[in-house]
Amino acid sequence: MGSAAQSSTITIPPDLLPEDGRFGSGPSRVRPEAAAALAAEAENFLGTSHRKATVKDVVGRLREGVAELLSLPDGYEVVLGNGGTTGFWDAAVFGLIEARSQHLSFGAFSAKFAAAVAAAPHLEAPDVISTEPGSHPEAVADPSVDAYALTHNETSTGVCMGLRRPAPEGLVLVDATSAAGGLRFDPAETDVYYFAPQKCLAADGGLWLACCSPAAIERIERMAASDRWIPPSLDLGIALASSRKNETYNTPALATVFLAVHQVEWINGNGGLEWAASRCDQSADIMYSWADRTDYATPFVTDPARRSTVVATIDFDGVSADEVAAVLRVNGIIDVESYRALGRNQLRVALFPAIPPSDVAALCGCIDFVVEGLSP
Ligand SMILES: *Cc1c(COP(=O)(O)O)cnc(C)c1O
Repeated sequence: MGSAAQSSTITIPPDLLPEDGRFGSGPSRVRPEAAAALAAEAENFLGTSHRKATVKDVVGRLREGVAELLSLPDGYEVVLGNGGTTGFWDAAVFGLIEARSQHLSFGAFSAKFAAAVAAAPHLEAPDVISTEPGSHPEAVADPSVDAYALTHNETSTGVCMGLRRPAPEGLVLVDATSAAGGLRFDPAETDVYYFAPQKCLAADGGLWLACCSPAAIERIERMAASDRWIPPSLDLGIALASSRKNETYNTPALATVFLAVHQVEWINGNGGLEWAASRCDQSADIMYSWADRTDYATPFVTDPARRSTVVATIDFDGVSADEVAAVLRVNGIIDVESYRALGRNQLRVALFPAIPPSDVAALCGCIDFVVEGLSP
């Protein structure tokens, strides 16, 4: 009780506060410039047909902008549809995995895709290679596997992994939901690099985007033409045909499409993925070096090579991270609570490109201020 009363009286001085208090890992900060641009275009754009040029042009800009942002090789195509990443997993269960997949499971999101596959009656039991949260397993070449499921950034734990083809055969499916647009990678090492736009792309949720290699497109077309039953809303063959017309199979959230284009073009206009990744590197450096020199804070991910530069997880010792998060929230700094199921005394902070490094530095100062105020 005492500490609750105490925390409610801690007021962070305005000059310590970040410009913007949103540090959540998804949905994450939408740049005010993007929201203003949407408001300015609202009467011409929102509430108009997604089968007409006004919206189709924006979808086309999104597909082209993503291909440019991620430097997709010739022959790769950007496919999109509704349902976010979770919807895409179900689509992959029907339209990308032929018989058996291998999954690297090292957090809540990678585990969920593995579970969706394991529950599918038309697929063989997947090979699931797990490690404890805080690191990641390595893929193992296996000729009986036709798809490898990797996760570029495990948002629940703040672990990132390098992307390499585990074997010459087998599609490489990469969940890049919190990575796309913030982490470097070689797209030639992937066949399907898929994500939703509410993280690094600083838009809203509900959409999935998938960058598909020629081999992935061949697989999609072959599975769509096979005698496997596929619900139409999860049929990647239909999604591919719609995307090629700059449409989605059914109505998308137009605001999401608009905000995603705005962010992609903002990054491309500033120097592309290298610029965005460098900005995230700078934020990560600020956050982790603060944790290293702070006696009550330690980076959760011990191997610096696996420590994410887009989502930082910081363990607390001798101080309740939940209490710190509660005080920050009262002061307008929100969504830095740890991923619940992980059950650690931890803060989780998004370092996405829309969040300026100066705000990450301000956040560290605010945490110090709060911890000092909470100390007896
Ligand atoms: C957020 C997230 C998801 C879930 O995305 P939805 O669009 O909400 O389905 C999946 N995987 C990762 C790595 C994520 O960060």
